[in-house]
Order: sequence, then C-alpha cells, then structure tokens
Amino acid sequence: MTNVEVKNLHVNYGLIKAVKGISFSFKSGEITSLIGSNGAGKTTTLKALCGLLPHKGEILLNGEDIATLNAPDRLRKKIALCPEGRGIFPNLTVTENLMLGAYLQKSKDKIQHLIEQQFTMFSRLAERKDQLAGTLSGGEQQMLAISRALMSEPDMLLLDEPSLGLAPIIIEQIFQKFVDLKKTGLGVLVIEQNASLALEVSEKAYVLETGSITLEGRGEDLLHDKRVIDAYLS
Ligand code: ATP
Repeated sequence: MTNVEVKNLHVNYGLIKAVKGISFSFKSGEITSLIGSNGAGKTTTLKALCGLLPHKGEILLNGEDIATLNAPDRLRKKIALCPEGRGIFPNLTVTENLMLGAYLQKSKDKIQHLIEQQFTMFSRLAERKDQLAGTLSGGEQQMLAISRALMSEPDMLLLDEPSLGLAPIIIEQIFQKFVDLKKTGLGVLVIEQNASLALEVSEKAYVLETGSITLEGRGEDLLHDKRVIDAYLS
C-alpha cells in the first residue's frame, strides 16, 4: 500500500499565487480526482507533485518527505506523470514511444517484457505498434501517453486532463482503463474539467478553486452535492 499526503502546498509564479496552501492525499488501489475550472491551479499542482515546478510544503510518500527531490528521483520513487496534451513523439512509432517511457530501466529484456505487458493491456496499441504515433487517433494517442507513463512501473499515476479533446465514448473507455488499473493496485490521481465522469469513478475527490481546496469528499457524494452540481455539472 502506497500513500501520498500533500500538506500545505504552495506554488507561485513570481508574484502570482497559483496554489495557496492546499492539503490532500491519495493512495494505491484508488482513483482520486482533483476537479476545478480553467486556471484553478490543477496543472500547477500536478507539476509541483512531480518536481517540475518549485514549491513549498510537504509531500509525504509513505511518510517520507520527497518535496526536495528532483523530477527523475520522484519518478524513481514511482510517481509518474501523464501530461496534458499527451506529449507523445509523433514521428516515432508506438513501440519507440513506449521505449522512451522506460528510460530508467536498464535491462533490454525488462523493457521488452514491459512493452508486452502494455500491449496486453492496450490491444489497440499492439495492433499499431509499428505505426508512427502521429497517425493515431486522439484516443489512441491518449492511450499511448498513459501506456508510456506506465512503462516506468509507477505506484502512482498522475494524469493531467486525460479527456481533453476526445469524444465522450472514447473518454469513457479511458476512464474504464483507470478503473482496471486501480484494480491492479495502482494509485490514480486525475485532474479534470470533465467533473461528472471523474467523480463517478473516484473514491475520493477534491474541488480546487483559485488555488484553494473548497470541497472534498467521496466522489459519489460530490456528484450529488448541490454546490458541485451548480458550479461544474449543470
Ligand atoms: P487549465 O485547465 O487551464 O490547465 P488549471 O486549473 O490547470 O487550468 P493552472 O494551469 O495550474 O490551472 O493555472 C493556475 C494559475 O496560474 C492561473 O491563474 C494561471 O494563469 C497561472 N499560471 C499558470 N502557468 C503560469 C506561468 N507559467 N506563469 C505565470 N502564471 C501561470
């Protein structure tokens, strides 16, 4: 069981206070979502968690503060990010993209094994393994981005707006993958503007508004909370 506890996280861009002392937690075997509108500070929070932005506050991984570690060391601690906009390499094949996700792995056999695992989980990627990533559909590219993040064998997978720009049916398939993944013991932290689906699948959820957490609870409870319905679901 892995858990991450974030305490009093602050992130500034110069004088702009983007994240103002938020506290939240997430753990393995669960989906946790952070919802909020444009500019609420969701991406900033995720980047800070991965060590991609300077920040203040504690980030406790099973009780150990990792807030001073750099991004590669946080990845070694098994916290992986699947960034917004997917960040895949369009001119490389599906397999080559996956190999890049395994850059911390040293053994070729291990990398091959991990690729095969991904192809079992994402059969569409297996069918397209030699295709250039740029020729995949939007949904397939998102699957590839998730799969590439999984190549580092994370305990915690952080996802930035995985539904962005995708058709509703594809978004549902992607969220179904998160449910499959959490059942394997992975901890999933997802930030989303598509609040209804995120809340539906989340054990726990937080609402972020202008850099502060204003509501938290079980996903199912927030889905029926009038304040959430009025602000994000209607
Ligand atoms: P979105 O859904 O648009 O990505 P978000 O909730 O992820 O929204 P952030 O991107 O984290 O929000 O932005 C939080 C605040 O920080 C916003 O006010 C934004 O304008 C500001 N901000 C984000 N990136 C920078 C930056 N590089 N420099 C200055 N301000 C920034």
